[in-house]
Amino acid sequence: MTIAVLPDSPATAPQMIDPLDHLADKLFHRMGADGVYARTALYEGVVDKLAALITGHREAGTEVMRFPPVMSRAQLEKSGYLKSFPNLLGCVCGLHGTEREINAAVSRFDAGGDWTSSLSPADLVLSPAACYPVYPIAASRGQLPKGGLRFDVAADCFRREPSKHLDRLQSFRMREYVCIGTPDDVADFRERWMVRAQKIATDLGLTFRVDYASDPFFGRVGQMKAVSQKQQQLKFELLIPLRSEEQPTACMSFNYHREHFGTTWGIQDAHGEPAHTGCVAFGMDRLAVAMFHTHGTDLSAWPAKVRDVLGLQPLVAADAHVEGWR
Ligand code: 5GP
Ligand code: ZN
Repeated sequence: MTIAVLPDSPATAPQMIDPLDHLADKLFHRMGADGVYARTALYEGVVDKLAALITGHREAGTEVMRFPPVMSRAQLEKSGYLKSFPNLLGCVCGLHGTEREINAAVSRFDAGGDWTSSLSPADLVLSPAACYPVYPIAASRGQLPKGGLRFDVAADCFRREPSKHLDRLQSFRMREYVCIGTPDDVADFRERWMVRAQKIATDLGLTFRVDYASDPFFGRVGQMKAVSQKQQQLKFELLIPLRSEEQPTACMSFNYHREHFGTTWGIQDAHGEPAHTGCVAFGMDRLAVAMFHTHGTDLSAWPAKVRDVLGLQPLVAADAHVEGWR
């Protein structure tokens, strides 16, 4: 974070300028809430190319599923989310009363009052990660085959952490590869993906490092969970120094849940033991922001190798010449 005094601001009130802010006008349109943005064609084009690149690395025998931005509240509760991240959850609520009660709420709003006190929770929550819905689906198929199952999933995810930083959105896209199998199946899967993901980041011309990590578990008990998670090396992240070297941004994560979801959903591996699970998550919005931060907002100026990896049209020499003279 840089502190600067803008020319037209009072010298006594320095304004914080975030290193990513200069990207905002080219990539996003504001929608009246921090961390919730409309995306420009320039930005979305790169998100599409990144998604295609990740698809290109999909392992054979991986089943594709795409999830909506909401999921069953009961399933998320059963997954243990409230024990770990209750502060981040967004819940769908609605006006569920009688016609009279609903009209009364609307009338209160029309009279300048508060209608939201009449809201009550629906049976849906906003998905906080793309992989939660896949475990009950896998469980419904019975005992796992030898070698386990692999899925390619994606969803618009929501986490209630408003921020002005462009790499901390409340609503963002997550793509994941998931493995459900024996401990060895999952360990091998995570190893393979940690190598492959670093190759992808290198091909994209990104500066990064991979490090142990922990999830932002809620509260004081949560701090202990985070320590244990790090000690057991259950989570790694691919970190990109977008804002600073000291506080890099996690753009991918490699997670081992041990038997948590296998036990929760009663998934048995091929030996009849509770299945182990793991996932590799790609933060599509963070990766796109990282690309623009690293290579700039003029796609024609991106390194030829990076353009090639993303499948962007090669620049014709004549175009380059014309652009040079414009
Ligand atoms: P995790 O489940 O490991 O916390 O998240 C998986 C990936 O989703 C992260 O590595 C990151 O790329 C992305 N992600 C998590 N939180 C946010 C966020 O607040 N904003 C954005 N844009 N992406 C996020
Ligand atoms: Zn996951």
